Formats: sequence, structure tokens, C-alpha cells
Amino acid sequence: MPADRASDPSCPPPPLRLTLDREALAANWRALDRLSGTAQAGAAVKADGYGTGARRAVATLADAGCGDFFVAHWAEAATIADLVDPASIAVLHGPLTRADADWARASGVRPVLNSLGQVQRWRECGGGSCHLMVDSGINRLGLPLSDLGDPALDGLEIDILLSHLASAEEDTPLNARQLGRWQDARRALPHRRASLANSAGIALGSAYHGDVTRPGLALYGGVPCAALADHIRPVIRPQAAILQVRHLAAGDSVGYNATFVAPAAMTVGVIALGYADGYLRAWSGKGSVTLGGARLPVLGRVSMDMTVIDLARAPEAREGDWVTVDYDLPDAARITGLSQYELLTTLGARLARP
Ligand SMILES: *Cc1c(COP(=O)(O)O)cnc(C)c1O
Repeated sequence: MPADRASDPSCPPPPLRLTLDREALAANWRALDRLSGTAQAGAAVKADGYGTGARRAVATLADAGCGDFFVAHWAEAATIADLVDPASIAVLHGPLTRADADWARASGVRPVLNSLGQVQRWRECGGGSCHLMVDSGINRLGLPLSDLGDPALDGLEIDILLSHLASAEEDTPLNARQLGRWQDARRALPHRRASLANSAGIALGSAYHGDVTRPGLALYGGVPCAALADHIRPVIRPQAAILQVRHLAAGDSVGYNATFVAPAAMTVGVIALGYADGYLRAWSGKGSVTLGGARLPVLGRVSMDMTVIDLARAPEAREGDWVTVDYDLPDAARITGLSQYELLTTLGARLARP
């Protein structure tokens, strides 16, 4: 059951949601497509579109003109297969079992083959057009270069020949080394299209672009490197309702372990967002929310289902009002020490994704 649909449609919506600025998402894709030069930008939409809601993200990206979608798992492909041409969906983990390969054949979703074993599995169930991942130095998934001459690859119908950069957001010699190995693989194996760059890889220049780029993070408002900062707009905003307004006396403490103590009488609000929703305890005493233009700091510890905010700058705030959580990804990463990837993908299933 998708998190954006209650099993009983008459059940009212929850007091927390993740808004998606569809226009900003489309604009980010267009910017990354432009920065990809003669290559076409695809989109990494694994992990529920990096937590933004895969179905609404894919629908928006397809409308913008995106024609290649990358997911990690077969179940993630099934979630979006009715929205786009199944052949435009690539499953990065590849077929681990015969059932995976059979489902790919039946659905038309394309596997990314990562090993000679996966190549053989794909052939045994009938084969056909597929993608091939070669490992150029990240040592994660992908065929080692030493396997490229293997006769098991003869005649394989490779659409996209991919590799993946380990440190595209850094200025490191590993990037050029990986580029060289990917180019070796391109010379060794017939293929229709080639792909290397993730979001940050796009900023490394045209040599890294190939025919298809695979941005993920930057589509959703993440800024992995300074070169992309001027091109990327924020896309998501977590919002939560105020469940209760409370009045504290000087000396009253807030939340678990009483880590905040009111220095004077004050008014606080309890919002319906906690660490179980991915608003992790890293935000305790550091986060803030916005209400009617006022920035309201988080007080004390974030709880599982609730967080307390200072309402001094929003004296009109009432139960049921919605606040927007300050969640600009580069800022949020600096404040919490979490990566922008983690900040997106930890946002939980209880947030409505309307
Ligand atoms: C996740 C992923 C991407 C997207 O990377 P970003 O850094 O989010 O742009 C691209 N390619 C592969 C193989 C991936 O696993």
C-alpha cells in the first residue's frame, strides 16, 4: 500500500505531509538536462524518489521530458510501471533470481546486469535488450573490466553501458581514472548508449556525459557541489500541524531528559513530527520551523512522534495551524551532520505525499 493512500479512504489525512513543488522538480530536471550537453538527463527515482514520492516524481519528470528512470529494486519498478513505458525503467540491482528475470521479460522493465552470472540468468529466461553496469573503481556492483572479453557477453543486446562514479563531488584523480576505464569498456563492448554521470558527475564536464546522465539528488533540491548551486531549486517541504499550544512558567522543562528549561514564562507548540518520521534527534535544539514568515526554534529533544517549538515570534499560533519545517538540504546537512541523501530518504511513510 503506498504511503500516500490510507487503506480506508474515509480516514482523514494525517497531521503531517511532504509537499512537492512539481514546477521546481521539472525545472531542476531541465537544468540538469541542459548541463548534460548533448546527453539526455534521466532520473534516479529509487528509494521512493529519494523519499519525495516516486509516483508523483516520475509523473512530473515524464511530463518534463525525462525518458530514463533508474530504480534499485524490482518492486520499485512495479510501483511506477503503469506511469511510463516500462522499457524506460532500469533496475540497478539486476536479476538476483530467475523470478526477477522472468518478471523483467513479462513486464518489459529492463534489468541492469552486473555480473556474468546475471548475464547468464538473463539469457536463460530469453534475454533481449538490457543494460550492463561495469565497475570502473567504486567496487560496488558491476562487471569487473577483466570480464569484458568473456565470450558470455557476445551478442548481448546492451542498450545502456553504465558505470558509476565514487567521488564525483570531489576533485580527485579517481574521477579521471574511472572515466578512462568506462571509455575502455565502451570500446570493448557494443552498446547503444553510454552513461557515467550522477548529479555531481554532470558538473565534471562533457567527457563524463556520454549519452545519458543519471541525476538523483540534485533533482530533489540537493546540491552536491558548488557548480550546481545556482541551477538547483528546493523541491520538498515537510509540514506538520500544531497539536497543542502550551504555556510554560520559568523553570519548566521541555521533553525527554529535560534538555531545555524555560528561562522565563513562554508559549510553546507541539507539532506532529518526530524521529519516527525521519526528523531525527540530530535536530534537537537545532532545528526550526516557519509560520507566517516567523522562524520558530525547536526546543529540547525531538520525540518519536512530536517536536516542541518556541511560539514567541508567532503569538497568534493555534492548534491545527500548519508549520513548515526548515529543511533546505545544504543547510540541513551543515546543521545536522547528516548527508543530503540521508536527509531526503529518511523522511518517513507517515508524511502524506499528496
Ligand atoms: C543513486 C544512483 C545515481 C544517482 O546519484 P546522485 O548522486 O543522487 O545523483 C546514479 N546512478 C546510480 C547507479 C545510482 O545508484
